[in-house]
Amino acid sequence: MSSFSCPHLELGRDFCLKLKTDCVPGRPGCVLQDNSGFLFSAEDRIRDRLSDKNETPKKKETK
Ligand code: SF4
Repeated sequence: MSSFSCPHLELGRDFCLKLKTDCVPGRPGCVLQDNSGFLFSAEDRIRDRLSDKNETPKKKETK
């Protein structure tokens, strides 16, 4: 088992300093694009990230 720590990642907000956008490993321009495999495509994960950002705030839970 191995782990990877990207030097371009701004911790805390998952921001890619190289690409000036959200860190989505394997996305176009990412250092992992051509040398790594992912269970889900970068396109799907980018779409999910955008979807999460546009998500409407959830209603507050009532006790
Ligand atoms: S998108 Fe790729 S290059 Fe950018 S921070 Fe994430 S892993 Fe690193």
